[in-house]
Amino acid sequence: MPTSSGHGLDERLRRALGARGQRFTEQRAAVYRYLVSTTSHPTAEDVFVQVREEVDGISLATVYKSLEALVSCGLARKLSPIDGSARYDGDTSPHHHARCLACGCIVDVPDVPGLQAARDVIRAPDGFHVVEARLELSGYCQSCGGLHAREARA
Ligand code: ZN
Ligand code: MN
Repeated sequence: MPTSSGHGLDERLRRALGARGQRFTEQRAAVYRYLVSTTSHPTAEDVFVQVREEVDGISLATVYKSLEALVSCGLARKLSPIDGSARYDGDTSPHHHARCLACGCIVDVPDVPGLQAARDVIRAPDGFHVVEARLELSGYCQSCGGLHAREARA
């Protein structure tokens, strides 16, 4: 559950959009409220399915543009696709992700101090200024892991 009230979220969104010269709309607010309420790292299509219950007549294109507006004003992160669609994350605090190679689920992994220290010892290309180090684990989630192990034994 989000820690901020709906009103607090709307205010944060209004300020962040305003700072980028973008307009606050009810559609964008509904997209943002849904995105911060879930840890599922949904695609634009997933968000659309949820938000259209709440906002009459909202289109997939509007949801997509709203998500991009949230990313551009720093209120969401876009996780690039391995295949398929990009995924969105309303949690912009430092954390990492584990992706399941079988079902595609993305689970949060807490940040560890050692990892941010590791960016100082990793050799970045000459002249490349590192801002942040992010880790992405890939493998099999709890539900798929058992399946994978059974298939491997078979
Ligand atoms: Zn899985
Ligand atoms: Mn996340």
